[in-house]
Amino acid sequence: MRKWQLGLVTALLLLPLAFSITPASAKTTTTTTAAKTAKTVKQTTPKKHYLIVMGHGAGDPGARGNGTTEAHFLRQYMLPQLRKYAKEVTHSTITFYNPKRNLVSDTLYHHQGSYNINKHTTVIMFHLDAPAGHGGHVIIHKKHPTARDKRLAKVIKKYVGLNRAYNGYSFRTNLRNCNVLRRRGIDYSLVESGFITNKRDVTHLKKHMAKIAKADIEAITNEQLK
Ligand SMILES: [Zn+2]
Repeated sequence: MRKWQLGLVTALLLLPLAFSITPASAKTTTTTTAAKTAKTVKQTTPKKHYLIVMGHGAGDPGARGNGTTEAHFLRQYMLPQLRKYAKEVTHSTITFYNPKRNLVSDTLYHHQGSYNINKHTTVIMFHLDAPAGHGGHVIIHKKHPTARDKRLAKVIKKYVGLNRAYNGYSFRTNLRNCNVLRRRGIDYSLVESGFITNKRDVTHLKKHMAKIAKADIEAITNEQLK
């Protein structure tokens, strides 16, 4: 290494140091600096992460009814609206599971995607029910509904109605898509938004989709959106 190169390397090494010193030395008594510091501290606390999974997909159409499939309906009507409101959330982070992939096969056979979900992530799955009935419910992770489960059930009740068989919640341990998460201690809620086979449920879902999506995002994160 030549002398001028050494000089350059030294200068480059000192560069970040110079930058890191500047804000510290500039930290005077001004209130704006104090506010900035507080903001920085706040940002270092990791935000709660939610992963939204639109049921089925990757060759699995799910339930059928009213001329559509569960996978298609959820992705075509619900996913774009959920994405829109997820962007407005500021206290949490929301990501969406690749709609071309299937959570169960990814976990059990391919060992990718959901297989790599962080234990601090909460998974929210959206589905439509079949073969016959009316209304939705929330399939819960623990024996009793969490505050989040209760908020999600309220959304269903308001826009579609609750399935009378469950009165809001159902605790299941025999569902594969839940068990791939349960076995690894990952928190989840599975929302059965209504019956795909019920014309009234589908009509209500389509009609109120934007409001439902907004309310669902608020229910998941417990954050009020404008
Ligand atoms: Zn389903």
